[in-house]
Amino acid sequence: MSTTVARDARVLRWTGRLSDLAPSDRTSLLQRAVKPDSGVERVTANIVESVRSRGDKALFELGRDLDRVSLTSLEIPREKWRQALETIPPAVRGALERAARNIAAVHSASLPCTIVSEPEPGIVVTRRPDPLDRVGVYAPGGRAAYPSSVLMGAIPARVAGVREVILCVPPGSDGAPATVTLAAAAIAGVDRVFTIGGAGAIAAMAYGTETVPRVDKIVGPGNAFVTEAKRQLTGIVATDTLAGPSEVVVIADRPATSESVIAELLAQAEHDPAAVSIAIILDEELAAAIMDELPESIAREERAGIIARAMATAGGVLLAESVDSATEFVSWFAPEHLVLALSGAEEIASRITTAGTICIGSGCSVAFGDYLTGANHILPTGGAARGSSGVSVLDFFRWTTVQRVSSEARRRVADDVEIFASAEGLPAHGRAAAVAASVTAEQSPVSVRLDDNTIVSPPSPAVQRALAAVKPDSISAYPNVRGESARNALANYVGAERDSITIGCGSDEILDAAFRAFAKPGEAIAYPDPTFGMVPVFARANHLKPVPLPFARGGDIDRSGLLADDPAIIYLCSPNNPTGAVIRRETIESVLRDATGIVILDEAYAEFADSENVDLVPKFERLLVLRTLSKAFGLAGLRVGYAVGAPSLITRLNEVRPPYTVNAFAETAAIAAVGPGLGWMQERVAETQRLRKRLITALAAGGMTVLPSEANVVLIVGIDSTAAGAALERSGIRARVFQELTGIGDAIRLTVGPWPVMEQAIAILRETTQ
Ligand code: PMP
Repeated sequence: MSTTVARDARVLRWTGRLSDLAPSDRTSLLQRAVKPDSGVERVTANIVESVRSRGDKALFELGRDLDRVSLTSLEIPREKWRQALETIPPAVRGALERAARNIAAVHSASLPCTIVSEPEPGIVVTRRPDPLDRVGVYAPGGRAAYPSSVLMGAIPARVAGVREVILCVPPGSDGAPATVTLAAAAIAGVDRVFTIGGAGAIAAMAYGTETVPRVDKIVGPGNAFVTEAKRQLTGIVATDTLAGPSEVVVIADRPATSESVIAELLAQAEHDPAAVSIAIILDEELAAAIMDELPESIAREERAGIIARAMATAGGVLLAESVDSATEFVSWFAPEHLVLALSGAEEIASRITTAGTICIGSGCSVAFGDYLTGANHILPTGGAARGSSGVSVLDFFRWTTVQRVSSEARRRVADDVEIFASAEGLPAHGRAAAVAASVTAEQSPVSVRLDDNTIVSPPSPAVQRALAAVKPDSISAYPNVRGESARNALANYVGAERDSITIGCGSDEILDAAFRAFAKPGEAIAYPDPTFGMVPVFARANHLKPVPLPFARGGDIDRSGLLADDPAIIYLCSPNNPTGAVIRRETIESVLRDATGIVILDEAYAEFADSENVDLVPKFERLLVLRTLSKAFGLAGLRVGYAVGAPSLITRLNEVRPPYTVNAFAETAAIAAVGPGLGWMQERVAETQRLRKRLITALAAGGMTVLPSEANVVLIVGIDSTAAGAALERSGIRARVFQELTGIGDAIRLTVGPWPVMEQAIAILRETTQ
């Protein structure tokens, strides 16, 4: 090995045994982060100051002096980048779109959610992730074009829900950025593109100019001036970690080949003469082969000049005695990219916590991650990976903590606050705590709504994204007459034929229409009581006679009562609101067999139950099943309900309804909800089912009577519901209070929500029942 080292000393900066590195070698390997260069610092400071004080004027001058272009406008109109998308070769467009899809998928999976905790009873602290309002992405230009950087910066911001994403990219020699970069902007869904490069772009986005809006955060790699501008503007604007030259460490052993190790080293080295490519090899022969082949491999490369300089300045092939010594190297070197081309890679990866990204196996090239796996390629360099991570969707959120202290908790903690305050010599703090403790009335407005039976979580990111992308044209034009596109998606979701389903403005609209369509004024509508409160209201509004029939003992419906006198409509709700009870399938079928009118089966809460009955539709032509996206999908505000029934019923139903009751937003959201957002809903529902079980157990343990439920609500009976509702309301929780429910009496209905809120509700209910 040592002889080879001598021969290749010109090609590589680091050779020999890893264990032979002198302390001074380690220091120089460690201190590779961007060193502030006084020339760069001075030039950047001048640029930043001139953009701050003279805005657009300074930017035009910078374009002329640095980029050698005379710009007529700083902004590139949207049509230009739309056109760019049509101009690039279809294969390039296909690759960009594929990368964009994968980036969106990977980043959607790590969206943060609100965290509620209750360190002591009555003290509730919520941490809420809020997307940033406006983000600036910088994509380097100059000689090369980096459409991938546009995707890596802009798509995670879009996924996070950032309201406006702008892009700055340097002009090419013709005054415009490369066509492929503009096409990437269109694919990434950027809002505005500016042709401004270098430190000027960073300053413009940090301060804002007449044309460029001020942003909350800037991400994206750039040259030394871009990085220096970010450093100087820290405090004015948030940025990602300061980017230095690219780096890779490859740890390899046989059977990895010299060819694959060299390929990884050269791929990073071609970025920049200052790039760092180091191989740590566990097999002497493999190391020797790499060293032998390296000079020729470099010479064959298109960018051989850059690569040769990089390898000679900071490249290395070092021989390690053991996997442990190789991983020890990585732990302090903290590379941007790490390739583990040896057996046991998975286990080794699980121990490494200082690499920007880890590629498992010699078949997992860094190049895959650079473009297509969907992982982000904007990663910490220069050892910053010890304390920072690559860009992710989390970079585009800031967190707000919301604190609530109940009157009881205020009294409990005020003393300690006073003690603390006086120890810090801040007596006014102590007095503020004492005054707050003496405030008895709860001033907190209702902050948690557990009264409307909607799932307590935001709609899926897929839905949020789809809504953000609704085009202005879809708002100025009429929507589909009956939300036909969403109808097809919903038909697919429930496994129904297209002509067996219709959508409406909530299932409320369809229920009301069904009463009109299937019964004449004066006719009866029979339903088990208690049930959904709008049933008698819609009945009366349509001049029908509501016939409520109390549930039988044991919770069964009164089958013969419902069928008696052949009502025009029988309404069944399963799981039922407000009890959460399901009606057994055999019972539903037996009612259907004997009914002479229409049977409406309201399955608003079906997703939360273990069974559903849409599949009965083809068997019973009198059956109309009602469903909604208001509950499990969390889309109550958009109003999407639907009905599944025989085509003749659907046609009749639509004869008595106005057109366009499904608006463009509702239709878009519905398609996303049952398409890409489906998994999200299923996970939330599973979580709700677990919480429901836990809630029912805890309420029963607290001495309360709860009805078994398969909905996302529970009904607590045998309680002073008015007092309990008021006590909950004082703590910011709104539940639904019922008085004198048929066969049940007073009751309180709670929507199943996050556990800390459930615990708080349980504590309050226990207090009121004691
Ligand atoms: N059916 C039942 C049983 C309900 O509880 C509700 C609303 N609470 C609805 C239908 C109406 O829901 P939407 O109109 O939002 O679809």
